[in-house]
Amino acid sequence: MAYQPFHRLPDCTLAGVEALLRWDHPERGSIPPSEFIPVAEDSGLIIPIGEWVLDEACRQAVAWGETVVAVNISAIQLGHPGFVATVADALRRHALRPSRLILEVTETALIEDPDGAVRTLRALAELGVCIALDDFGTGYSSLSSLKRYPLAMIKLDRSFIADLRPGTADAAIVGSIVAMARSLELSTVAEGVETEQQRDHLRELGCEIAQGFLYSRPVPADEFARLLVRFPVSPGEG
Ligand code: C2E
Ligand code: CA
Ligand code: CA
Repeated sequence: MAYQPFHRLPDCTLAGVEALLRWDHPERGSIPPSEFIPVAEDSGLIIPIGEWVLDEACRQAVAWGETVVAVNISAIQLGHPGFVATVADALRRHALRPSRLILEVTETALIEDPDGAVRTLRALAELGVCIALDDFGTGYSSLSSLKRYPLAMIKLDRSFIADLRPGTADAAIVGSIVAMARSLELSTVAEGVETEQQRDHLRELGCEIAQGFLYSRPVPADEFARLLVRFPVSPGEG
C-alpha cells in the first residue's frame, strides 16, 4: 500500500491521507491499480483484497495517531451484502474512531443500483464514517448524486485541475463546484495538484483541500510517518 496526503489549503496542515493499493510483481514489476483492480473485480478477489486494504488502512491510522485515512471502495464491495459489517468490524478491531475513516466511492459505482447504494451509504454514515465522492465531474456524474447520498466530501477530478488558469472554463467550473459544495456543507478536495500556480488559484477559488504531487507522491507507510513529522495535523480533525 502507498499513502498520499491531502492538505488544507489555507495553512498546508494535513487533512488526511489516502491509501492506494500497489502490486509489485516479481517478474512484471510494478502493475498499476488501473490494470489489476478491474481484474480483481471480475474475479471477485476484490472482496478479500478490499477487506485487507480497509484493515491495513485502519491499522496504520491508529499507529499514526491523529490522521484521517481515506480508502477507495469499488462498486463490487459496495454492492456486497456484508460490506457495512466489514467496515464496522474493522473499526471495532482497531478501535478507530469512525469519523477518522473516509470511504471514497465513484459515481460510476453508485449508478448500477442507486437505491441499494443509498441504503448502504446511509448505514455507513450512521456508523459515523465519512463518504467522499471520488473523481467528481467525470463519467456519469449528475448533480442529483449530491442530494441523494449522505456525502461529506467531493473529490474534484484532476482533469479539471491540469489546465487550471484564471479565465479558463476549468476555473469557472471549479469555482462553481466549490461554491455549490460549500452551500451543501461538503468539503472539496482538488486532486492532481502539481504546481504552485494551481494551488494558489485553487486557494483563490475557495477550495479547502488539495492533494497531488506538489505535496507528495504516494509513498510507503514508513515514509509517510516521516511526512507526518513535517506537516502538523489540522486541529479538530475527526
Ligand atoms: P484515484 O482514487 O483517483 O487515485 C488518485 C490517483 O492519481 C492515484 O493513482 C495517484 O497516484 C494519482 N495521483 C495523485 N496525485 C497526482 C498528481 O498530482 N498528478 C497525477 N498525474 N496523478 C496523481 P493510482 O495510485 O495509480 O490509482 C489509480 C486508481 O486505482 C485510483 O484512482 C483508484 O480508483 C484505484 N485504486 C487505488 N487503490 C485502490 C484500492 O485500494 N481499492 C480500489 N477499489 N481502488 C483503488
Ligand atoms: Ca480516490
Ligand atoms: Ca480520484
